[in-house]
Formats: sequence, C-alpha cells, structure tokens
Amino acid sequence: MKDTFTHKGMRKKLVETLEKKGITNPAVLQAINTIPRHLFMDSGFIDHAYVDKAFPIAADQTISQPYTVARQTELLEVVKGSKILEIGTGSGYQTAVLLQIGAVVYSIERQNKLFKKAENFFKKQKYAPKKLIFGDGYIGLETEAPFDGVVVTAGAPYVPKPLLAQLKIGGKLVIPVGETSQIMTVFTRTSKTAFNKETFGEFKFVPLLENKN
Ligand code: SAH
Repeated sequence: MKDTFTHKGMRKKLVETLEKKGITNPAVLQAINTIPRHLFMDSGFIDHAYVDKAFPIAADQTISQPYTVARQTELLEVVKGSKILEIGTGSGYQTAVLLQIGAVVYSIERQNKLFKKAENFFKKQKYAPKKLIFGDGYIGLETEAPFDGVVVTAGAPYVPKPLLAQLKIGGKLVIPVGETSQIMTVFTRTSKTAFNKETFGEFKFVPLLENKN
C-alpha cells in the first residue's frame, strides 16, 4: 500500500481536527501528520483512516481513535530518547507515533495474531520498536525497567501495581481506568514510594484482559 498525496492531505486535515480538540504538543501533531495511519488498518477500512474514530482490526480489537493516541502521547510527555513501555500493541499505530517522536519503545500484546502482524509490519519499516513482546501487560516488563513512561492502550479495571513499580522517579503511567468506560489517569512517580495522580476525562477502550490466552 502506498502513501499518496491524497493521504497526506487527509492527514493534514486530521491534524487540524486534533488541534481544534485541544492537542497542542508540536511533536505529537507532527508525528500524526507523518505516520500513514491507513497502513495500520485492514484494506476494507482504509477510507476511514483519517477520520477521528476508532476502527476494528483483527482479533476483535480496535485501532485507537487518533485523538486518543495524540492525547495519551501528549500526557506521557515523550521526548527524543524517552524509554517507553506500551501495553497493547494492537495495530502498532500508537507504537509508530511514539517511534516518530524518537522514543525507545517496548510494546506488549496478548493476542498472538496481532503480535505476529505487528512484528512483520515493523520488519519492513524504517523505524522499529526496541522489542515487541507476546505476553500479559498486567505484569509489565521487569527485565527492561525502569521506564520514563508506561502507556496502557486498553481499559484497565484497576491499576496494575507492577506498572507503577517499573517507573523511574519522575516517570509517568498513562492509563485509562474503568470497566464500561474509563477515566484517563496519569500517575507521576515523585519518589521511591510516592505517586501523584491526575485525571483527564472519560474515554472508551477495549478491555485490558487478564490471564486469558
Ligand atoms: N495501541 C493500539 C490499541 C489497540 S486496542 C493501536 O494503536 O492500535 C488494545 C490492545 O490491547 C488490543 O490489541 C488487545 O489485544 C491488547 N490487550 C488487551 N489486554 C492486554 C494485556 N493484558 N496485555 C497486553 N495487551 C493486551
């Protein structure tokens, strides 16, 4: 699949939409403007790639809404070289946005089909995550911790403790918390034992599933 002038034009419009919705971080907007979202969708849906909506991918999952990806990335405060753990690789779109900003990305996915697909996809790209992991995001990635940021891209019924424990001091966990709908929550680690908690409104995600493979 190619990235045409039409796609580029549609992306520019999408970026304008995101700015109107309150996204201000220039690096995030530039990344959305650069990454061809249609490459992360099944061909039947590519007409919808530059609409600000979530869409189905394989294994009953979704590619997150562009606004959600932009907002989570903005809340993570990613800069070049940030070491980021993503829970829920899915289509790999959020992964690509993080890579475009210059983050070093580790990403965990529990659906084998999506994990394999993402692995194949990134083999063919100029940019690649440091590591894709097939596993359960509830336990994080102890072997590579600590992280500057952890972003959870599925709705978590509760905050998994290992994800907090694997943050650097000053690091952030961006996690949508809730069952039917979620409150976007950011935990900033202020010391070995203390975390500052902030909330950023309601979102809707597919569930972060535990112990089912
Ligand atoms: N970041 C993705 C969003 C995909 S939707 C994107 O940009 O497309 C959320 C993803 O989280 C799904 O792929 C789902 O399979 C995955 N997921 C759900 N529970 C998980 C868990 N416990 N560990 C890792 N991934 C999980």
